[in-house]
Amino acid sequence: MVNYDVIVVGAGSMGMAAGYYLSLTGKKVLLLDSHNPPHDKGSHHGETRIIRHAYGEGEEYVPLALKAQELWYELERETGKQFFLKTGVLNVGKESSSSIKNIISSSKRFSLPIEIMSAEDIKDRWPGITVPSGFIGCYEPTSGVLRCEESIDAYRELAILNGVTILTNNRVTSITANAESVEVSTNSDSFIANSLILTAGAWSNQLLAMLDLELPLNPVRKTFAWFDVDEAIYGENVFPAFAFDTPNGYYYGFPSIQKAGLKVGRHDGGTTINPDEAMTTFGEEVGDQEDLTQFLINFMPSTGKLLYGKTCTYTLTPDEDFIVDLHPKHPNIAIAAGFSGHGFKFSSVIGKILSELIINRRTNENIDLFAIERFK
Ligand SMILES: Cc1cc2nc3c(=O)[nH]c(=O)nc-3n(C[C@H](O)[C@H](O)[C@H](O)COP(=O)(O)OP(=O)(O)OC[C@H]3O[C@@H](n4cnc5c(N)ncnc54)[C@H](O)[C@@H]3O)c2cc1C
Repeated sequence: MVNYDVIVVGAGSMGMAAGYYLSLTGKKVLLLDSHNPPHDKGSHHGETRIIRHAYGEGEEYVPLALKAQELWYELERETGKQFFLKTGVLNVGKESSSSIKNIISSSKRFSLPIEIMSAEDIKDRWPGITVPSGFIGCYEPTSGVLRCEESIDAYRELAILNGVTILTNNRVTSITANAESVEVSTNSDSFIANSLILTAGAWSNQLLAMLDLELPLNPVRKTFAWFDVDEAIYGENVFPAFAFDTPNGYYYGFPSIQKAGLKVGRHDGGTTINPDEAMTTFGEEVGDQEDLTQFLINFMPSTGKLLYGKTCTYTLTPDEDFIVDLHPKHPNIAIAAGFSGHGFKFSSVIGKILSELIINRRTNENIDLFAIERFK
């Protein structure tokens, strides 16, 4: 049996970044994944993810968002490739919306550049948007869009270059742990390490059950789709990424990038799924398309016909805050899960935090909000 310093189970968004940061430490590292990341079976596919700094989900996230942004720029320098598109992000909602309030308060507290706009200002600046009076906009010009699969690929390439072993199509089927070591078996082999990082996304509770732990994680089906648009109105050079808190739901989306069409999805809602069962495809569930088109008709009426749609998984915690912590009974196991549909932008910094946590049992970043203890 081969011995490692650290095994990472789940080499998706968080696990692949953790693998890269561990590769900088000189440790002997093994990454295991049941698929071949990046892939379309988990939570990280669909080309793009939004990164915002003034944070609607709470001011506590701002220092991490800023650190994550710094690390995305670092990855670009390291690889000579572009993963971040500075499109700006437009947040729209009523003044009473908690996400709008959080965005305004976090921009004040951390001196972030936010333009507060009336419904008229928004329509004047982006003719493709219609906003009823009573709504306001918070435009953050320094934020934008990350290319998700491409950045996972980049971390993978760098990790391998630095000596990390990655075994794909290796599904972990058993884990046993004691204070000194962890034994991990997959469908093809067994491995031993001093410590383990568990980053298995929607499958996290299956693996945690092997370690006598159950967390309140709810994997849900999400839909998103691309729509045909006029590039002069909705193209990446003229239109921002966006998040709209509306009376019918919370919608987000992206300008047409490389002429792919405007992409839109709904953040709230979704039905609970079993990650091992095939999910119904986009359009198979009643309302998949209608839910997105009613948003576009109301707020972006110049968009055209549906091009195609996809499904993906969020793994929700009850408070929609992440879980990043050491296992309560095994300090040689770190867990990162429950990213609740807003984790990708942080994957750079979460990867770094996990590498610190597993080697030093601590990190300098403040992750108190993500403690497992809060569910007691
Ligand atoms: C439609 C959609 C839109 C989103 N939009 C945004 C956004 O705009 N901005 C943002 O910041 N975030 C966004 N998110 C959220 C973000 O993408 C997720 O929070 C993030 O990808 C979660 O990362 P993860 O590492 O936990 O899971 P994943 O990336 O899914 O990785 C988990 C990995 O574990 C592997 N695995 C599971 N079980 C096993 C096993 N037994 N053995 C071995 N390997 C295993 C899986 O194969 C997978 O590769 C969005 C998510 C979706 C679905």
